[in-house]
Amino acid sequence: MTTRSETRTALDHLLTEIEHRNPAQPEFHQAAHEVLETLAPVLAARPEYAEPGLVERLVEPERQVIFRVPWQDDQGRVHVNRGFRVEFNSALGPYKGGLRFHPSVNLGVIKFLGFEQVFKNALTGLGIGGGKGGSDFDPHGRSDAEVMRFCQSFMTELYRHIGEHTDVPAGDIGVGGREIGYLFGQYRRITNRWEAGVLTGKGAGWGGSLIRPEATGYGNVLFAAAMLRERGEDLEGQTAVVSGSGNVAIYTIEKLAALGANAVTCSDSSGYVVDEKGIDLDLLKQVKEVERGRVDTYAERRGASARFVPGGRVWEVPADLALPSATQNELDENDAATLVRNGVKAVSEGANMPTTPEAVHLLQRAGVAFGPGKAANAGGVAVSALEMAQNHARTSWTAQRVEEELTRIMNDIHTTCHETADRYGAPGDYVTGANIAGFERVADAMLAQGVI
Ligand code: NDP
Repeated sequence: MTTRSETRTALDHLLTEIEHRNPAQPEFHQAAHEVLETLAPVLAARPEYAEPGLVERLVEPERQVIFRVPWQDDQGRVHVNRGFRVEFNSALGPYKGGLRFHPSVNLGVIKFLGFEQVFKNALTGLGIGGGKGGSDFDPHGRSDAEVMRFCQSFMTELYRHIGEHTDVPAGDIGVGGREIGYLFGQYRRITNRWEAGVLTGKGAGWGGSLIRPEATGYGNVLFAAAMLRERGEDLEGQTAVVSGSGNVAIYTIEKLAALGANAVTCSDSSGYVVDEKGIDLDLLKQVKEVERGRVDTYAERRGASARFVPGGRVWEVPADLALPSATQNELDENDAATLVRNGVKAVSEGANMPTTPEAVHLLQRAGVAFGPGKAANAGGVAVSALEMAQNHARTSWTAQRVEEELTRIMNDIHTTCHETADRYGAPGDYVTGANIAGFERVADAMLAQGVI
């Protein structure tokens, strides 16, 4: 029988090896630490996981593809970007996970996102493996024609690695409905197949699911509501700080308002807006979704209630709830201390790994309900899996049906994480609960399928 401390030592060795074998990938190291540091209790309790090198296989992607993406701008100049697809684990189903277009993208970032995705997708219970991809292409300031040419070039390589039964990408930072449209068009042209299930996040008129654009933000608010319910509270009348102003942030703000809470901030990489009256969603959608502008334009048009703070972080604005919805490591230990000083009750991650490890520990020690992204933002990929189901059946569900399913799935994920944390002696610790529950599902499938 292995003790917990022997298991911890073995995991520490493995973490050192991961750092050694994957140099210069700090985000991947961070994600691996975050998961492996919580697995000792389950590995000690279930020694069958140790023997077949299960954790060692889990931290090594099944396949990693890196490719050149050449494209021409509107002046005819040639640019060369780098494309990635990391197919991390397919024990539970086809690889599934978004594509990110952002200048900060590199292999380590894509691996961290793919690794997180494996556990997140397992938590949904919907039979999807984990993967992630993207490029260091920056769509900001590019014309529609340039974005189209880039997407076409990207898909000209990617198409040979994906398919409805193999690997099903979706959107992420910098990849929304416009990009998915161009990518799908090029896939269809190259393969001569109308294969709806190869990408999710498609337009509602050509194979997309209703509520997919809303799903990540809505799901995160539902998860936050479930955490509050556990403590005898609800969202009614609560004030929230939300970072970001993209897909996840916008639909987080929308759902908060629908459930009686009030989001008073949004941000982008230029700074943040605080709006005492609460964010005016129609105006924000106009500025960000229609005009693809910056948040200072929102503050200019909104009038006296709103102010733009260049370069600042939303976490300095006092609120009951914090929902980071922009990017990784955007909420650090100082921010967490500020949130706690201002009486925050819950932090729920819409973005992937937005809270640094030190900040997570500080929040948990202070008794703040903390919802990790792999549980709290799983609503997006869950509705992507529902989109695949609709595509397969050649049907489309009503918005009401999709939203009911999303609500059920988010409540199930919350219950699973909560019960698993209890079962392994960490009551109220959703990080441990999410990691172990996701791990058990993937590990059981890997065990059954042999050493591959
Ligand atoms: P969008 O591209 O729609 O929006 C991203 C937002 O975050 C923008 O406001 C952007 O500002 C800001 N942002 C991005 N990078 C940075 C940075 N380095 N510094 C400061 N601000 C930044 O992306 P999404 O809303 O889709 O994604 C947001 C987060 O949610 C990501 O972590 C993503 O992985 C995660 N997520 C998304 C899902 C989805 O369904 N879309 C599903 C699950 C998780 P700017 O325009 O100035 O760059």
